[in-house]
Order: sequence, then structure tokens, then C-alpha cells
Amino acid sequence: MAQPALQLPSEVWNHVFGYLSAADKLNVRASCKYFKKLVDHGSLWKDWAVVLSFQNGSYNSQFWATLRRRKVTSVVVRSTKAKDWKQLAQSLPALTTVVMDQSSQKSLDCLKDFPHLKRLAIRNSCTSVLLDTSTVSKPQQLTHFSICDVAFPSRAVGGVISAVSHFTNLTSLVCHQVGVLEDTILMVHSILSHLPKLKHLSLSVVHRLCTFHSVPRPNPGPLRGAHGQAGALALSSLELIDCMDHSLPEDAMRLMPGLKSLAVFYRHSHQEMADRLPSPVCHLTTWLRDLPQLSTLVIVKGPPVNKYVTSIPATVTSLTLCIPGLSSEDMAAAAAQTPNLLHLHIDPWPSHLGAHTAQIPLLFPKLKHLKLRHEHVPEKDFLSLHQLQDLGYLEILDSQPHLSELIGKLQALTNYRLEVTTSPRQRDVLSCQCKLY
Ligand SMILES: [Zn+2]
Repeated sequence: MAQPALQLPSEVWNHVFGYLSAADKLNVRASCKYFKKLVDHGSLWKDWAVVLSFQNGSYNSQFWATLRRRKVTSVVVRSTKAKDWKQLAQSLPALTTVVMDQSSQKSLDCLKDFPHLKRLAIRNSCTSVLLDTSTVSKPQQLTHFSICDVAFPSRAVGGVISAVSHFTNLTSLVCHQVGVLEDTILMVHSILSHLPKLKHLSLSVVHRLCTFHSVPRPNPGPLRGAHGQAGALALSSLELIDCMDHSLPEDAMRLMPGLKSLAVFYRHSHQEMADRLPSPVCHLTTWLRDLPQLSTLVIVKGPPVNKYVTSIPATVTSLTLCIPGLSSEDMAAAAAQTPNLLHLHIDPWPSHLGAHTAQIPLLFPKLKHLKLRHEHVPEKDFLSLHQLQDLGYLEILDSQPHLSELIGKLQALTNYRLEVTTSPRQRDVLSCQCKLY
């Protein structure tokens, strides 16, 4: 290390390192002992989650000491061995976020050893596991709980829902691919009744024809919490994964009238649906009509846009339409419904917007944030995006080597007001792969 570098106060270095990515910080750390000490400062690793694979057996004490110096509170673990989990619990007892990327009964049984656990994700079990209220030491401390692709014995699924109902301080619940056998809407009702603080709910809702067409559905009655208070009032965000149009009944949203965000990830595109069971009705139409406070709407695949577009409430300011074959007419109809749109993610892949990209500034003049593909868009149409006076952030989904020249031209046209990125923003460590699109 050259002497002048040492003369800068450590706070200044700390500030400079704060602008670096995790990979760059690790490179700086490897350059000398002085930087190694500075880079391991806890303030530089606040939102960082370490991935532990235990591939070469146990980690040494120096490794754990480094993580403690960085005050690491989030881990992703790719081991199902009890001895690895025991070592983790002893070495990092202060963990608050644990993502169990592969799970087994043995690893689940070790969760009790993390007394500060607030955010927990359990994924990918190779055999069925049992989960109950004793799985974590302080069930009421959990604020985020996620289960994805975890197998439970069929008789125990009801027990899982019952265990979740004891996590009474949950604000976020994700429940994907768990082989739920109950009527989905009754399950939603049960969850909402017991979790009065729940703000975000994400479910995979596999369609079972018999549920809604052959079997009479009991009336779940008005929503009441465990203490008689009205439930579901806090719920502001609902995500439906692997959805089919009839996965929830058409009046389902009346249970959640305060929703501000609805994301529906359909299992099929409407072209694929047409080959199966063409449906004369589209429940999404009714769902949207029942959501007067909706501000964020995400639709991925699903029914033809013209079936529901006129039901999109004018309160929507953030819209994602990832609809294969989306036409310029669909785009114009969506624009007519959303006069105050600020955020737009539009993607007709595997088809392309092409020259229709030039319509975006005319249809959505107030946009601040735009996400799209640039392939097959003629240069003059792409550059017409500079007409969006308020656009501050553009994310291009398909990066290519020659793109930097085009981005440079667009930024020059906006007087370098526009920030352009070709790499998506970092996802939360708790997010699963189900909604990649
Ligand atoms: Zn998932």
C-alpha cells in the first residue's frame, strides 16, 4: 500500500467502498491488509446475503469470524445436513434471515437454533417434510415466511396452514407448489382471518375443475380475525402464480377490497389456452372491477387483453403486460384505461413491439419508468422514446454488444437526464424463481 492512501481517514474509504458492488469490494479486499480490514466493516454489507453451499465440508473459524465482522444477518444455505446447520447456528447465532434453498426434515429441525429469526424461506424438499408451530423457536417473531416446492404428506397440509396461522405477526406470506388440497378460496379466507398484519400474499393456484364446477362451495362468511376484528384490511398486495382463469372464483377479490397491487402469472398464454378449454368468461374482468384502489397491475400471459382491458381501473399507475403477441391495439386500449401511468413494463415476447415502440410516448406521456426489449425495434423508433419528458429510468431487457452506442444516442437526446440499465435490479434474497419472466 502506498503511503498517500493510508493518509485518507478510514471514513472516506468507507464512503468510497460504499459505491462498489459486492464483487468489486472483494477485489479491493484482496489487494492489501489495510483494505481487507476496512472492507469488512459491517456498514458495507448491510443488505448482503451470503450463499453457503458447504461443498467442501465445513468452513473454518476464520471464515465465520469474517462474516461476524461484517455483521451478516442473511444467509442462503444449500445443504440439508444437520451438522452443517448446527455449525451455522453456532457460528452466526444473530441471523435474522434464513433461506433454506434445499430442505429436509433434518435441516428443518435445526431451525429452532436461530432465536432471532424474522424472515424464513423453505424451498425444494426432495422428500416430504413435517412443519408445525414448533419448527421455529419464536413463531410470533416471524414477519416473512415463504414455502416453495416443498412436499408435505397429504394428510399434513392442513396442519401446515394451521401452523402458519400461529405466525400472527407475518406481513408477507408466500405459499407455492405445496400440493394444497383445500379449496383455494377457503384457504385464503383462513389465512386472512388469522394473520391480521399480512400485507403481501403470494399463492400458486392450480386449477381443479371439479372444485368450482361440480362441488357446491360453502359460503365462507364475512372475514373476522381471531378476536372478531375485520380481517384482510391490511392486505395490499396479492400475487397468483401458475394461475388459470378459474383458479379463484369471480368474486374472490371482494375478500380483499383494499388491494393496491395485483400480480397474476398465468400458467398458459391465451394461444395455449385456446387449444385446451376455451372459456366464454374471463374472471380477471370481475377481479379488476372489484379493486377500486388498485395502483399496480402485473399480468403475465393469460387471456386475450381485449377480454379484460376495459376493466383496468384508472387508478393504476404501474402496469406490467408480458403477453405473447400483444398488439398495438391492445397497447392503445390499455393506455386509454390508465391516463396517469408512471411505470410501464411491456413485453410481447416471443413477438416484438417493433415500430410500435414509437407510439409509447404518445400513449403514455407521463411515464417515469419504462422496461422493454429493443431487438427488432428500428433505431428511429427507439430514439423516439426521448419524447417522454418525465422518463428518468429505462431498463432494456435484451442486452447486446452494439447497444451502448444506441443508448448513448438516446441519452444525448435527453440531455443525459435518462438513466439506462441493461441489468435488472437486485432481487430480494427471499424471492423464488416462480415469477421469473
Ligand atoms: Zn415460488
